[in-house]
Amino acid sequence: MAPERLYLFDTTLRDGAQTNGVDFTLGDKLTIAKMLDDLGIDYVEGGYPGANPTDTQLFAEDRNLGATFTAFGMTRRPGRSTSNDPGLAALLEAKADAICFVAKSWDYHVRVALETTPEENLASIRDSVGAAVATGREVLLDCEHFFDGYKANPQFALACAKAGYDQGARWIVLCDTNGGALPHEVETVVGEVIKLIPGDHVGIHAHNDTEQAVANSLAAVRAGARQIQGTLNGLGERCGNANLVSIIPTLKLKPEFADRFEIGVSDAQLKSLAHASHTLDEMLNRAPNRHAPYVGESAFATKAGIHASAIMKDPATYEHVSPDRVGNRRKLLVSDQAGKSNVLAELERIGLKVDKDDARIMQLLDVVKEREAIGYAYEAADASFELLARRVLGKVPNYFDVEKFDVNVEQRDNAVGQRVTVSLAVVKVKVDGETLISAAEGNGPVNALDLALRKDLGKYQGYINGLELTDYRVRILNGGTEAVTRVLIESRDESGERWTTVGVSPNIIDASFQALMDSIVYKLVRSGAPA
Ligand SMILES: [Zn+2]
Repeated sequence: MAPERLYLFDTTLRDGAQTNGVDFTLGDKLTIAKMLDDLGIDYVEGGYPGANPTDTQLFAEDRNLGATFTAFGMTRRPGRSTSNDPGLAALLEAKADAICFVAKSWDYHVRVALETTPEENLASIRDSVGAAVATGREVLLDCEHFFDGYKANPQFALACAKAGYDQGARWIVLCDTNGGALPHEVETVVGEVIKLIPGDHVGIHAHNDTEQAVANSLAAVRAGARQIQGTLNGLGERCGNANLVSIIPTLKLKPEFADRFEIGVSDAQLKSLAHASHTLDEMLNRAPNRHAPYVGESAFATKAGIHASAIMKDPATYEHVSPDRVGNRRKLLVSDQAGKSNVLAELERIGLKVDKDDARIMQLLDVVKEREAIGYAYEAADASFELLARRVLGKVPNYFDVEKFDVNVEQRDNAVGQRVTVSLAVVKVKVDGETLISAAEGNGPVNALDLALRKDLGKYQGYINGLELTDYRVRILNGGTEAVTRVLIESRDESGERWTTVGVSPNIIDASFQALMDSIVYKLVRSGAPA
């Protein structure tokens, strides 16, 4: 039997833009739309033309996507005609392949929010869908609050959906707007809807307020719906929308769905999923969620030694799917619990060729254990581990020496009488027998030290120009006056590669200095800088 087609509809640029703290520019929207298109998404919803300048501009030109570029807006207002509603006019004028209307389908909302009658609501759906179909565009109807509406008044909710379908809407999308529906309820209600509207015209739009948006979307598919709406990384207001980054690999890799359905995402496109997910975080200036299913850094990480040795024999022992299918990688954590197999696997990944009986492997493991006992955390700091391993195996050049550094913190009144705290760092470095002195001011001592350290490294400067700190985390390890500080620094370079380094000391500046040094040296090693 030929597989049935399931359609993916992305609303990152519309519903995802409702996320607290997210504000897409026109450029961001174009970049994300392109990325979704490259991923093989069928529909890209761009926004709400007429509602704000960015979205109006977005739909002012034909964006030439392979995906069906969709504009979103409201049905005509109660008491107006379609020809006398500026909102509807803006929507119909948008340069979009498809138009998605949102309409009420809960009688309580019609009465309280819209302050109109059920009949007028149905007429508004019919008129608006009809007007858009007449322009030759594909039309979708988002039935807002469908599941709550169905529970309160099933006849009315179904009548709204049917009104859109009868007027020629390609898709009737059932929305769990408040996000409170549960998978078994979704499965039952969708089952009722497809008795009236064929399933290949029914979509699901789930919100994640009970953390079941993905499960609800899959339940709707099981019941017959054939379009899934969601966002990248589950972006969306409150608790977010259904996460396409989890849904896509589930549809592609789990036999229940993979055997019955096909989606627009090819196996090759699936391999770019982790990258797409991280790129979006990058644009939002957020650290990617390490524990994100399928694409998170920890999604295929194994810590305990016994699990690691089984994984080395056959990865299927502790993995539900193969990480490379989604562009992720297996990670065996090196920590005080690590066995020899973790270390060996990690060395292999780094590309360090060592015989498995080499005595230096046990020596490295002992050093890791010793250092973790005093507070280092190598499983979180892959770059520091790599340097440690390279040092134990005798392979890190001594690029430069920091002869001394000095950091001052001063609080004083500035020229306009405001109280300010400024930090100044001076660093004396020896490169190739030459002494270089750099000074820098920063908003804090670590910032000043970082800037001074990277200001002039002589012949190595060219290798670290693209280096940038992206995250700085501090943890105090054991309370009281004996406290030890652990600093984790995440860095990034011009190629987008990220790595984390660690430093530990009773002194926070010293701990930060160690992590900064590791980051710079790691970058020099990666770049193949000459000794
Ligand atoms: Zn929504």
